[in-house]
Amino acid sequence: MIRLADLNQSSTQTNSSSSISLTAIIDTALCVGAGGSSGSLSDKPILKNAEGKLVIPASQLKGRLRHECEKIARALGWDICESPVAQTMCPQRAGLTGNFEHDHYDVGDRNPDDSTRHHCLICQLFGNPSLPSRLQFSDLVCTEHPDNIPEVLRPGVTINRRRCTAEEGKLFFLETSPANTALRFKGTIHIQPRWKLTHQTDEESRTTDFAKALMLAGLKHIHALGGSKSTGLGWLHWEPSVFRDPQINDHVWAFLSSPPPHIKKEVNHEAN
Ligand SMILES: [Zn+2]
Repeated sequence: MIRLADLNQSSTQTNSSSSISLTAIIDTALCVGAGGSSGSLSDKPILKNAEGKLVIPASQLKGRLRHECEKIARALGWDICESPVAQTMCPQRAGLTGNFEHDHYDVGDRNPDDSTRHHCLICQLFGNPSLPSRLQFSDLVCTEHPDNIPEVLRPGVTINRRRCTAEEGKLFFLETSPANTALRFKGTIHIQPRWKLTHQTDEESRTTDFAKALMLAGLKHIHALGGSKSTGLGWLHWEPSVFRDPQINDHVWAFLSSPPPHIKKEVNHEAN
């Protein structure tokens, strides 16, 4: 089988790429809807791959992880652009003030006069319309054989918010995985070599590769995936071994916890 991650790795510096192997264990029942699917009695069938195995799509995990990493980086004091609208993301950052044009945001190897060479920590990892992502997410695929997973239908009804009663004729059925069976979903995140910062030597850039540390911190904040989370579906926990990564050292945490100071211009503007 041809794997996209392998193809890209062979065309880049394979010596410094790495990966994170993930296992999500579902605590309740999962409901990841597959629009346009047929072959089920439900109004919202559950997503499956070609082998009939349940799947949590890579795009959903990437989006949630980006959101959680953005929250953590902002809380630590880093200036982060506003996704997902291209105009407010790096390098345009329309309407945003902040200290974006400093060394840590310089992805290097470009013309020094190029105004598009500064990208925030999150864009350096997850990419934006002008910078490729360093990360490749695989789908999280259920390890249980499809024959052992019965079709479970969960009824629901649309509530009229104004009258606080059930809407007439709005009964629907969701397909979910069986509840409380601790289904395991496995997947991988491949991390491509980091952007080399112009002011750093190779040795320095290796010690401050924050990718894994920030992503694992973000992963700890993901407690549910899929639809109907507020009604208890999709709640999960991650296999704890993923968080014990020997590559994450004190230098990485020191780097993440010491963001560059905010620019003076912003402070003066507030004072006026
Ligand atoms: Zn950005």
